[in-house]
Amino acid sequence: MRNNFVLGIGITGLQSCTVTIDTMQDFLSYDLEGLRLLMAAWDQPSWRARQISAWVWQRDAADYAAMTDLPASLRERLATELPLRRAAAAERRVSRDATRKYLLRLADGVAVETVAIPGTGGGSSGSADQRLTVCVSSQAGCALGCVFCATGRAGLTRSLGAGEIAEQVRVVSEDFSRVVTNVVVMGQGEPFANYDATLGALRLLNSPEAFNIGARHLTVSTSGLIAGIARLAAEPEQFRLAVSLHAATQELRDRLMPGLRGQPLTALREALIDYRARSGRRVSLEYVLLRDVNDHESDLDALANFARATQAHVNLLPYNDTGTKGSGSLSPSARTREAAEFLRAAGIETSVRRSRGEDIAAACGQLAGSA
Ligand code: SF4
Repeated sequence: MRNNFVLGIGITGLQSCTVTIDTMQDFLSYDLEGLRLLMAAWDQPSWRARQISAWVWQRDAADYAAMTDLPASLRERLATELPLRRAAAAERRVSRDATRKYLLRLADGVAVETVAIPGTGGGSSGSADQRLTVCVSSQAGCALGCVFCATGRAGLTRSLGAGEIAEQVRVVSEDFSRVVTNVVVMGQGEPFANYDATLGALRLLNSPEAFNIGARHLTVSTSGLIAGIARLAAEPEQFRLAVSLHAATQELRDRLMPGLRGQPLTALREALIDYRARSGRRVSLEYVLLRDVNDHESDLDALANFARATQAHVNLLPYNDTGTKGSGSLSPSARTREAAEFLRAAGIETSVRRSRGEDIAAACGQLAGSA
């Protein structure tokens, strides 16, 4: 499949030009099921999809020529009709706290950000300290425009393919020379605005033919798209769900997250109650504490009521300054502790999330494609 896309208009001084490039479907736009269907269409046995996936995701093959147990004719056809074009790290930053942030360049030149968060300390193998968590992007940019989020201010460039989401995990694993233990789809973009590719990526990450990461170690974080929550509730896997709530009253949420005005809190609450009932899994509510914006007692009271109704766990996050005027600033740690105590006293299971990678703009809300 070959298409011509007009990518954009470049302006240099007084001159402008339209840039047209030739693109085609490539391997990273596919998930495992898509590859199986393609092999069937090419009259290949279905196990070829597993075989090729293992080469790409487990043996890090750079091209099809390396896949010596495939027939030469199939290797040639794959190279011609489904090119394997790896993402390249255009930039990499390392934080004081060992968090790493990558700016990855995809085959069409679009850049996405990925963050790797290694476990802290030097614990023995198998301990929590050996975790390597990757925060992946599901879209380049985001259309939802949350006021506290650097990604939202830049707008949406395009959604990623399943393989492009999984590729971010492979790049991190290669850079750290160790397996990735946890993945959160919490980077740039709204994953449920790109549901099929996100689910395809989660299945790749979970698959024994690819990354073999347990479903309970794979979390998808939505800003609250109700149709996506309902779909995830019906999936058979035990993938985890987090919801970026940030306000539990409608007026404030409309102000902080204007792209979600069509997804009212009452409907979100019902969707989460239904999700819990159908999946049996507990949801996490992410809540960035913005001083004098959403940290009043009445805001926390509304949050407690929402969490109680949905039987959710609350993660309080310190605010990371992205330079948004009027969006507040980091709540003092004493205020964060107070807020956590308030919620716990109301019977809500609450954690305070330590911010990582803040010095390299890798923390929540800071991803804007400008590493
Ligand atoms: S917080 Fe999430 S949903 Fe909101 S603009 Fe940023 S990336 Fe998009």
